[in-house]
Amino acid sequence: MLKGLMQDQPLLISSLIEHAARFHPRGEIVSRTNEGPIHRCTYADIHRRARQLANALVGLGVHGGDRIATLAWNGYRHMELYYGVSGMGAILHTINPRLFPEQIEYIVNHAEDQLLFFDLSFVPLVERLAKVLPTVRGFVVMTDRAHFPECSIPGLLCYEDLLATQTSDYEWPQFDENTASSLCYTSGTTGNPKGVLYSHRSSVLHSWAACATDGLAIGSSETVLLVVPMFHVNAWGMPYAGAMCGARLVMPGPALDGRSVYQLLRDEQVTLALGVPTVWMMLLQHVDSERLNPADELCLRRVVIGGSAAPRAMIERFATTFGAFVVHAWGMTEMSPLGTVCNLLPKHAGYSLDQRLSLQEKQGRAVYGVELKIVDDALASLPHDGVAAGHLLVRGPWIARCYYRDDDSAVLDDAGFFDTGDVATIDPDGYMQITDRSKDVIKSGGEWISSIALENAAIGHPAVAEAAVIGVPHAKWQERPLLIVVRKAGQALERASLLEFLAGKVSPWWLPDDVAFVDELPHTATGKLHKLRLREMFRDYRLPTSR
Ligand code: AMP
Repeated sequence: MLKGLMQDQPLLISSLIEHAARFHPRGEIVSRTNEGPIHRCTYADIHRRARQLANALVGLGVHGGDRIATLAWNGYRHMELYYGVSGMGAILHTINPRLFPEQIEYIVNHAEDQLLFFDLSFVPLVERLAKVLPTVRGFVVMTDRAHFPECSIPGLLCYEDLLATQTSDYEWPQFDENTASSLCYTSGTTGNPKGVLYSHRSSVLHSWAACATDGLAIGSSETVLLVVPMFHVNAWGMPYAGAMCGARLVMPGPALDGRSVYQLLRDEQVTLALGVPTVWMMLLQHVDSERLNPADELCLRRVVIGGSAAPRAMIERFATTFGAFVVHAWGMTEMSPLGTVCNLLPKHAGYSLDQRLSLQEKQGRAVYGVELKIVDDALASLPHDGVAAGHLLVRGPWIARCYYRDDDSAVLDDAGFFDTGDVATIDPDGYMQITDRSKDVIKSGGEWISSIALENAAIGHPAVAEAAVIGVPHAKWQERPLLIVVRKAGQALERASLLEFLAGKVSPWWLPDDVAFVDELPHTATGKLHKLRLREMFRDYRLPTSR
């Protein structure tokens, strides 16, 4: 083969912030801080302070490849760590503070983190953990001297003091683009968390896909609210993609309740917001209870929803109440996370709202760089007819090939595809729809019932706040669906009327055999329904149809 004659320039994360500082120096990063007030800075500021941070890290004896952990909300200092740590060749290890302390202890020790940077909110958590993290040789609280906490953390350093002693005179080192840049552990519901180790190359390639028009279509004219946390798959890559295109970024800090998110949407004139369904549920409840009129007050044009399936009723509410288009997206920690995005094709231009909603319920088409296939239990490929549901496998340059410090983990098949653990259909236009996690599929009389389809249909009922469906044993059918519902405050809703509402919306044989009402549903640390816990809660439950 003849080699091409193009420049061999490594794709490095530092090049993103260098570009932003050069071409979008006044592009703004707005943060709601842990200390309270709104903070404003620019890409040029982030670049300058990330270089000061890199100098500080060198001073603290950090070398390329060292793991530097964060326990932090979305904010400008966390963004400086994204660039300062990875840019100097170390690895940014973002930790989900919603995990149980024992899981955090396991993760830090498994990663052998050397330094731990954390927000003021996590002082009590770090005080509790400090003694059981033998590899961590330094703790840094991400605040200034005025807010420095009284606490028992040994040798605690102050972030702003650390930066103040350093110049911004720092040349980002050039190295192989396949060098590790950041680390994020999956918060699976069973077994120990597993580390996904991203590279500079995978992160930069992923940013291009996120910015592309048929990706998330981000550009310098957008103001992007990152409700999705920077401790979960790098906030879906937005701190990198934002710098690549100079988008104005808004960071909500610890305040993710409906009122605080609404305030930011309004005061910062946000045009694009990204988050999981549970935070949007809180926002919609706030809009309802305060009788707000978002279409008049906000300029929100698009809402990216991923992490769990976006219910049709939610997509419709954003269209009718906000005048905003829901961009449904799917991915996972192992995929950096972007896999599919639900954008419309020219042929959908004449669609009615109803037709459009049916399309938007799907998780969308693969972005360039991600290959999808669905297979049956015997691993034979299934047709893309929108009907056949099978295990969803993926392949691409920003998808994990194994887990960190688990080189033997055989996660790829012979053709290099990764099994996502999701079950999906793919239609002839390439729109993929998740029907379940393979562990949550309800197997009834040899057929599969989609718990997600039932949940989303139930959420369409005006008195339903949240719904989950699990399979429970059945004498004749092996398993049948049980619908578990949280009613909206002050609403009366009975089993019979809910089942009547669902009839006609799903196949008759999918209709749940029973409905249980609860005050709240359990969630995982990333806001998904905790089906494993639900199944435990209903372990002794007997269906009336099976007695
Ligand atoms: P995580 O690694 O925590 O980001 O979780 C990834 C998993 O979340 C996927 O494998 C899916 O099961 C689920 N997920 C992500 N996005 C969606 C979506 N849009 N619809 C349904 N499930 C989703």
